[in-house]
Amino acid sequence: MFRTICVAAFAGLALGAALAEDEPSDAPDIAVEAEEAQAAPEPAAVDFAYVQAAALTAYAEAAGGSADDQAVIDIVNYVAGMSIYVVYHEFGHALIQELEIPVIGTEEDSVDIFAAIYMIAEEDDPVLDAMIGSVVEARFDQDAAAGGFVAGWDSHSGSEQRAYQVLCMLIGADYDGWHQTATEAEMPEQRQKDCKWEYAKAEKGWDALLGGHELEPGELSPAEITVEYDEPLPEHAAVAAMIEAAGLGEAIAQHIESQFRLPNPITLKFYSCGEMMADWTPQTRTARLCYEYVEFFRQNALKHQAATP
Ligand SMILES: [Zn+2]
Repeated sequence: MFRTICVAAFAGLALGAALAEDEPSDAPDIAVEAEEAQAAPEPAAVDFAYVQAAALTAYAEAAGGSADDQAVIDIVNYVAGMSIYVVYHEFGHALIQELEIPVIGTEEDSVDIFAAIYMIAEEDDPVLDAMIGSVVEARFDQDAAAGGFVAGWDSHSGSEQRAYQVLCMLIGADYDGWHQTATEAEMPEQRQKDCKWEYAKAEKGWDALLGGHELEPGELSPAEITVEYDEPLPEHAAVAAMIEAAGLGEAIAQHIESQFRLPNPITLKFYSCGEMMADWTPQTRTARLCYEYVEFFRQNALKHQAATP
């Protein structure tokens, strides 16, 4: 069965390397010729403060520790932020299929950009900033764990490149807010400036492609998104409790379902699937985030914390 696999470790495991999903590729050239900019995107619909609070309580209870402890907060931001980003990424694949959106450049790069754009809010939101900033860290951590290894045949760009891609969207949307982070990540000044145009172009491209599929005021999507959770394996109990309590799957599903005319029901599923991955399966219209992958984020967050003075 064909699947769009969106996983850090898939290629690396196959090759015996620790981590890789990696293919250096150019940033996608999305809808360069899109005409006038559409209406500005809606603010991110996920209530990040709620997600963080619920996730913290559940995680502290399941894994031990205090929900007030900064170290626990950092882990939750990292794991929840990366999980939210990955779920948006999978819904990017879902929308491309269901709404028959044309893809220019690689689909993986396109949906990475979709995920970043749909996470970014127009209003200041410090919790969102912490979570999406963690996505950048997580990608750099994945790259470091892989020793910079890149499988040339992989459909995904390398983790380091994916980190900079998210950072590029962030600084493109809010130069002042992310300038220091980008400079610390050694992104050259000129590149930081170029990201403003890249972000505007990407946003315009996605708006142009999705605009005709947006619901009118008062209109309901013909089909719904169902969120499912299966009992996790014992070793995934802490992250599973956190994911379910946070309600991030429901929030993202609601964001998508309340915005677009979905022709078919879609399922978003969280479970211990036996593989460290997330994917979109076109035949069953199912997006999956496996607890193995979420646990991998948690382990990387712990390592990141141990390595950061
Ligand atoms: Zn993907």
